Amino acid sequence: MDDIIKPVPIYVDGQWSISPTTGWQQIVDPTTNAPIAKVPFCSRGEIERAVAAAHQAFLAWRQTPIGERARLMLRYQALLKQHHDELAAIVSQETGKVMADAKGDVWRGIEVVEQAANVPSLMMGEHLENVAPEIDCYSLRQPLGVCVGITPFNFPAMIPLWMFPLAVACGNSFVLKPSERVPLTAVRLVELFYQAGAPDNLVQLIHGGQAQAECLYTHPEVKAVSFVGSVGAAQAIYRGASNALKRVQALGGAKNHLVVMPDANKEEVLNALVGASIGAAGQRCMAISVVIWVGNSRTWLLELAARLSKITPGISDENAAYGPLISAQAKQRVEDLIATAEQEGASLLLDGRGFSHPSRPNGNWLAPSLIDDVSTDMTVYQQEVFGPVLLSMKTTSLSDAIDIVNRNPCGNGTSIFTSSGAAARRYQHGIEVGQVGINVPIPVPLPYFSFTGWKQSFYGDLHTYGKQAVQFYTETKTVTTRWFDGDDDSEVNMTIALK
Ligand code: NAD
Repeated sequence: MDDIIKPVPIYVDGQWSISPTTGWQQIVDPTTNAPIAKVPFCSRGEIERAVAAAHQAFLAWRQTPIGERARLMLRYQALLKQHHDELAAIVSQETGKVMADAKGDVWRGIEVVEQAANVPSLMMGEHLENVAPEIDCYSLRQPLGVCVGITPFNFPAMIPLWMFPLAVACGNSFVLKPSERVPLTAVRLVELFYQAGAPDNLVQLIHGGQAQAECLYTHPEVKAVSFVGSVGAAQAIYRGASNALKRVQALGGAKNHLVVMPDANKEEVLNALVGASIGAAGQRCMAISVVIWVGNSRTWLLELAARLSKITPGISDENAAYGPLISAQAKQRVEDLIATAEQEGASLLLDGRGFSHPSRPNGNWLAPSLIDDVSTDMTVYQQEVFGPVLLSMKTTSLSDAIDIVNRNPCGNGTSIFTSSGAAARRYQHGIEVGQVGINVPIPVPLPYFSFTGWKQSFYGDLHTYGKQAVQFYTETKTVTTRWFDGDDDSEVNMTIALK
């Protein structure tokens, strides 16, 4: 590999260094496909050192008073805010996201760090007096040890920040393996964490792909594994890490539907559909990828097509709506899905293939696509597209719409637009999806709650961030106490001792 290209550093065993590994991969700017850095695929030996160092750090950190742990989060939050734009620029460079999307990515992560600063309240246990004569009982939460995070390409700031701040605030240490396609943001996040005063080795940063992830999630010293990525990888990691007897939370891919009732506010619906389908080039796990028109709400379809047709992707400086896809392969995959949809009988109202950016013709560009007459047996419906493509379906009733959504194997997010409280209530109650928006297109919960995907979008019991993450990153200990009065003199002795 070209030696001029900047190598991405690792943080292992107390220092930043360039990995001695022989396995490297290029990181490219998705707007041009020109290389910007190269990422190492760490060796087993480096991963062993990272986990061993994290374990040593844990032994000291678990004794650190919780107020001190919380104050580290306050300092980290302040530094992240100070470096918000700089971080967003790194996100934008390695993902191709436009700055508005990149800033949102960083901001949603900062909100989780704020939540982590509340750890003293979140970790409090419970106490009950007189559970039996003169016997009291209380439970307390203790950290687990070394926790691991394996993260995807599409939110390089937010998703690592979903994980390590809360894990560390709870008293654990952490090993982070970010996506091998976007490792640069993670480097800066970890640098700032140490700049905020974190003790050496609390968070280790290693790089690589599937083999490095496997090495981490099966490591005997690792206690818990947090994963976010595609369905196939989530299933593999849930199985593999559970088999290695780890605690696991594995968030998978998605297929999110937005149901439009005829009584909905048309303007709100059209605005919501445009932003939620093609924002961030559709590379969001909560992107709306299917609109289901109920009854005559479908008459708004052509107006939606007209609005989408005015949108083109581009780079940040142009105030574009969204950027390119992450890679040439990702672009080809989405183009193939569009072609297959047409072959299988769907109608291409808008075809985003063939768009070329005037100044960056080698980028992974796709203009918005809108595909109508989609049915659930089509390939484009059955796979997660993860591109600026909106599928359109129609039903005659809310019941049919609910049935379609419930038969989909994914259950990350969904939304209904209506002015009927009864319809909204029915949808909220009957839908088998973990995050529901009512007149809200992308219902990502703020970190006071947890991010609660269902079905193939989540494997595990305790969800990411919020109160459930504190349970995930801690173990409960229950103590039952009984104290005996001593002999008659003991009270006298104590009084003397206190004097
Ligand atoms: P990906 O599954 O290809 O990779 C994610 C991470 O897992 C990377 O770090 C990668 O190195 C590692 N990995 C890949 N295959 C693995 C395997 N078999 N075993 C162990 N590790 C493996 O995902 P991606 O393409 O980077 O991200 C996009 C996907 O992530 C989409 O499917 C999207 O819906 C999903 N996603 C889900 C959520 C959510 O909250 N549910 C959030 C963001 C992204």
